[in-house]
Amino acid sequence: MNATFFDGKVSRPHPAQYTLSAYTVEIRYTDTDGQEQEVVWPLQEARLATWNPSGKTRLQFGPFPHQYLDVETADYEARFIPARQLLKPARPGLYEFVLSKGFRGVVLVGVVTVALLWVLYAYGIPALSLQVARQVPAEQEVALGDMLYRQLENSGQLPVDKAKTAHVERFWREMGVKTRLPIRIAVVESKDVNAFAVPGGHVVVFTGILKKFNRPEQLAALLAHEAAHVEKRHSLQQLIRSIAAYSIISVMFGDVSGITAVLVDNADNLVSLSYSRQHEAEADAFAVEQLARQGIDPMGAVWLMEALPTEGEVIPTLLRSHPHNAERVAATRALAKKARTRGNSSPELKRLWNEIKAAGFSLKS
Ligand SMILES: [Zn+2]
Repeated sequence: MNATFFDGKVSRPHPAQYTLSAYTVEIRYTDTDGQEQEVVWPLQEARLATWNPSGKTRLQFGPFPHQYLDVETADYEARFIPARQLLKPARPGLYEFVLSKGFRGVVLVGVVTVALLWVLYAYGIPALSLQVARQVPAEQEVALGDMLYRQLENSGQLPVDKAKTAHVERFWREMGVKTRLPIRIAVVESKDVNAFAVPGGHVVVFTGILKKFNRPEQLAALLAHEAAHVEKRHSLQQLIRSIAAYSIISVMFGDVSGITAVLVDNADNLVSLSYSRQHEAEADAFAVEQLARQGIDPMGAVWLMEALPTEGEVIPTLLRSHPHNAERVAATRALAKKARTRGNSSPELKRLWNEIKAAGFSLKS
């Protein structure tokens, strides 16, 4: 009998002949390459298709992508029904649903898919990165941070000045701030007005930013601010976030092999990791609180920002990683005014500050 066959590989229909026996339906058709083909389907497995634009009776075979056989309804009633009581209707799948809605269905599925990916990207990743970051044990965090830090060191991007590092390290110890992980400071010779924190405890300070300071409270505030990004796992979250975002993009474009390369790329990104406003606010609050607790004037956090260019001015590096604006300065000032300072900065801190000044970071670069 004459019929139309869809082979499930190409959307084009093939004119076909079929023979019905007690248990099977044999279908013969000519494929797109002009080859004679024959398929035999157990009659038991035939289903009535739910999507049927042909006006004939459409039988469906096999898993998705299904094969279809459009037969004259009169033939179906005369031959198939007696051959097999009644064929069970197929359960409609997403594919049939989309096709039955035509172009609108395709657009709908496309829009829903993009929307879901966007929601995952915009909300899922930040929420998830916080959850994941909280689960990472301290040893893993330190190991990951050390690996990234070594990667940066080996790439030659961090010309560490050992003498200045020793001075600033002593200054940090003298501040007496208690942290979850030991903070390890590196002072890097660079014109860049920047500082950044690596997960696990490395804090890198560029001489370009030290040059901007004229009082010890500014340095104290900077170190406490960066330590807060470690303490509150902000850097770890940012890292997880960018890996997750990259993974989604990789999966979307089918480039799963690239995921392993992300860690390597992220070592470079640490230099300019940008934190959310919320993370910046948390780090500022931590700095104010810690300075006040250690008897250091918490206004240092405000003086720190005032010493740096604001949005709109040039020097972009620190703005990119710790953007501040008038609003953030005002919020920090309010916090600092509220915080009670116990006593004065230790004389030792002032002595160390003078040593740092004398070490001449302000004369170079
Ligand atoms: Zn920051």
